[in-house]
Amino acid sequence: MALMINDDCINCEACAVECPAEAIYEPDENRNAKAKHSAPISNEHFYIVIEICDECSGLNKVKCIAVCPMDAIKVISPVNKLTKKR
Ligand code: SF4
Ligand code: SF4
Repeated sequence: MALMINDDCINCEACAVECPAEAIYEPDENRNAKAKHSAPISNEHFYIVIEICDECSGLNKVKCIAVCPMDAIKVISPVNKLTKKR
């Protein structure tokens, strides 16, 4: 499983606040040292760094999806996750 934020995002920040792995970044924000690359993934809406996201491992729900008011966070296929690796 890998997660992606789509264009329905209204940049409310709720998901980033709730993410226990600090894997969600503001648009235009550079990724931190835990990520492999520093360039932002999106300049328009919040984004998830899949190398950092642990899919809320050990928790009883996926926190970012649970709090998103726009249903903008979608599960993408493992194939997409592999192709995103650089
Ligand atoms: S699934 Fe969990 S760890 Fe991954 S981005 Fe969402 S809240 Fe963060
Ligand atoms: S909670 Fe949803 S609408 Fe708000 S910033 Fe995250 S993805 Fe965007």
